[in-house]
Amino acid sequence: MGDAAALWIKDPLAILADAADRGLVLQGGRIVELVAAGRSPITPDVKTFDAGAHVVLPGLINTHHHFYQTLTRAVPTALDRELFPWLQVLYPIWARLTPEALDLGMTLAMAELTLSGCTTTTDHHYVFPAGLEDAIDVEVKAAQRLGLRVLLTRGSMNLSQRDGGLPPDSVVQDEDAILADSERVVARYHDAGEGAMVQIALAPCSPFSVTTSLMRSTADLARRLNVRLHTHLAETEDENRYCQQVHNCRPLDYLEDCGWLNDRVWLAHGIHFNAGEMKRLAGAGTTISHCPCSNQTLASGTCPVCALERAGVHVGIGVDGSASNDSSNLMQEVRAAFLLQRNRYGVKAVSHRDALRWATKGSAACVGRTDIGAIAVGAMADLALFKLDELRFSGSGDPLAALVLCAAHRADRVMVGGRWIVENGQIPGLDLGDLIRRHSAAARKLQAGS
Ligand SMILES: [Zn+2]
Repeated sequence: MGDAAALWIKDPLAILADAADRGLVLQGGRIVELVAAGRSPITPDVKTFDAGAHVVLPGLINTHHHFYQTLTRAVPTALDRELFPWLQVLYPIWARLTPEALDLGMTLAMAELTLSGCTTTTDHHYVFPAGLEDAIDVEVKAAQRLGLRVLLTRGSMNLSQRDGGLPPDSVVQDEDAILADSERVVARYHDAGEGAMVQIALAPCSPFSVTTSLMRSTADLARRLNVRLHTHLAETEDENRYCQQVHNCRPLDYLEDCGWLNDRVWLAHGIHFNAGEMKRLAGAGTTISHCPCSNQTLASGTCPVCALERAGVHVGIGVDGSASNDSSNLMQEVRAAFLLQRNRYGVKAVSHRDALRWATKGSAACVGRTDIGAIAVGAMADLALFKLDELRFSGSGDPLAALVLCAAHRADRVMVGGRWIVENGQIPGLDLGDLIRRHSAAARKLQAGS
C-alpha cells in the first residue's frame, strides 16, 4: 500500500525487465530490488505475492486521449468522415457537455484504461462551454478516486467559426480566461516532484482552433510555470494545406515560430513529417505520441515511428479520444502499433518488444518522467500483471510475445505506487455495471441534444 512493508512479486511467468527472473521487491511505493535467477531477495522481512501465473510489465503509459469523448462513440452522423468534417459534426454535441456527464465520461475512460494495464495517463481536455469552466477540477477528482497517475492537460480553443476557425463559438474561451485558468490549475494541482500522482500541462487544441497569440502566450506561461506543453500536430494533409494557406509554412515551421520546438513539448500523431523535420524534432527533444487506432479510423496516414526513432525522436503510444478510436484499451493499442508499424517497416524492424517499449519507456519520455516506464531499482512500483488463462492465449509459447500477438486486453492486476488498483480483473469499489448504465444514459442525452 505504498507503506513500509516490502513485497516480493515472486517468480513471474515472464517479466519485462533485465536480471529479474525471480521478480522484484517493492517498498514505500518504489521498486527497491530486482531478483535475478537463482537468487532470493536481500531486502529483509519481505511479504510475498506469488506471480507464477502472471506476465509482469511496467505499467503502461497513455500519452494522448480526450476522456470526454467516451460519450460520443460511434456517433452515426460522424461515421466514415475524415478529421475536419468529423470534428464539425461532433463539436455541437460536445458543446452540450455538463460537469455530471464529463465526470462519467472521464471515469469510464480511466476505468477502461486501468483495466487494460495502464498506470499513468494523460488527458487532453479542450472543450470548455459555459458551465464547464471547472473541467480540470472534475478530472482531478475522478483520477484520485481511481488511483491512476495522471498528467492532465489544460486544453484550449479560442479560434471559432466567427474568426475563421473550425469549432463553433460556444465551445471556445478568450485568451485571458484560458491563461488565468491554466495558471490556476497548475498552482492548485501540479506536483513537480518524483512520484507525483497529479501533474498538469498546457495544451492548445491544434493550430486550426487556436490563435498564434494564444500559442505563444501558452508557451511563455509553460516556461514560467515549468510545465509541459502538448498539442495535435502533423495529423492530416488537410492540416498541411490549412497551414500553408493561413501561415504560408508547414505545421512544424509554424510550431517553431510560436516558440514550441523544445523538450517541453510532446505532439499527438506526428504523421506528416519529412526527414529534415524529424531531425529538427530530435535536436529539440520534442517527442511524439503515436495513436495507431485513431490514425487508421480517420485514415489520417501512418506515423513513421521507426524513421522518427532512427532520427533520434522518442515515440510513445496514445489511444486518442474515444470518438476516433473508439476504444480506451491501451494494451490493444500496443498491438495496433505493433501491427501497423510492422506492416510499414517489416518483421525485422519491429518486434513485440518494440511495441511494449513504446508504451512504457517511449511514453515516459513523452510525459517527461524518469521515475516511471521501466521495472528498475528506484522506479515507482507501477506494474501491470496479465494472466494467460483465457481462450486467446491457449497454446502460446513465449509469454511476453503472447500478450501482443494473442491480443491481451485485460490485466488481472494493476499496481500504482505500490498500491493495487486492479485486483482479479476488477477495480475495487467501482461498480462497473452501474457506471455503464449511468454513462450510457448521459451519452444518449448528450447525443440527442436534450
Ligand atoms: Zn487527439
